[in-house]
Amino acid sequence: MNTDFERLTLPIDGDFTISRGSKSTVETVVVRVGDEAGQTGVGAAAPDPHYGETADTVCAVLPDLLDAVEAVDDPLSLDAIERRLRGVVRDNPAARAAVSIAVHDLATRRLGVPLYRYFGLDADRAPATSYTVAIDDPEAMAAKAADAVAEGYSILKVKLGTDRDRERMEAVRGAAPDATVRVDANEAWTPGEAIAKSEWLADLGVEFVEQPVPAENPAGLKRVHERGTLPVAADESCVTLPDVPAVADSAEIVNLKLMKCGGVREATRMVHAARAHGLEVMLGCMVESTASIAAACHLAPLVDYVDLDGALLLAEDAYEGPTYAGGTLTVPDRPGTGVRPVESD
Ligand SMILES: [Mg+2]
Repeated sequence: MNTDFERLTLPIDGDFTISRGSKSTVETVVVRVGDEAGQTGVGAAAPDPHYGETADTVCAVLPDLLDAVEAVDDPLSLDAIERRLRGVVRDNPAARAAVSIAVHDLATRRLGVPLYRYFGLDADRAPATSYTVAIDDPEAMAAKAADAVAEGYSILKVKLGTDRDRERMEAVRGAAPDATVRVDANEAWTPGEAIAKSEWLADLGVEFVEQPVPAENPAGLKRVHERGTLPVAADESCVTLPDVPAVADSAEIVNLKLMKCGGVREATRMVHAARAHGLEVMLGCMVESTASIAAACHLAPLVDYVDLDGALLLAEDAYEGPTYAGGTLTVPDRPGTGVRPVESD
């Protein structure tokens, strides 16, 4: 097998603000893995500094990860490849996920089936994706929500976690009275705040609240789960497989992401572990290129909630494949993840 990688900076459409901060571009590292027959699998890393990764750290570990892939004779031995990647670097999940996505794309291109077919899934069973309304002035958030609903999105994920949460939430609800609304506080609240806010959030018809308190406060998460009015989804508190049983009595839902857990197969293991613990499952993403979100789109039929709108937040993407128009995930009817470079004019 032959491999290479390329660093890209993708512009976000406007600024993307959550409780932790703002950004206007996304650093991406695209990975390509090719075989002797000339087929090429594509994946990408969307490193998140919150989890200790940057484009620099991804580029630093990729040569070793790709050496390990090149040393494998059989490109279909995906389980062995993913295990080997974990042996090379324990952390660096976005770098490992990029390679995992690329080898899964290559393997299923060789097999001549879309990735979801390889997992035995029915693409029509994928839940609709939510559309993210990032933190902004209440009026701007309301306008964003109204636009999203007009474009067909029926599920909104509203980012909260600053001083004017209630004002912002009421503005969004006013602009989108019929939408399903989920709230993501990205660790911003104390347990007491989260419990109090869950009451008026429930009155505003919010479905659940994601990561209300810091991941470093597992007892606080449990308290919000037990005493709050809304179901709790664990995101920053649920990163890798051992976190699933650890949050099972502190949340109703876990938000799994390839960039957190480090691989396509690891993500499916986490789905099954979550089910065994009676948890519902959301599949999420970072602000990402379709080059990496594509793989998650193929796994979406396995889960209950989908938050795979990361590429919709970009002003420009270098890759195309699955589409998300109006919230409906559609994967291309071609082998692999269906990803290919956007044709430039
Ligand atoms: Mg989240």
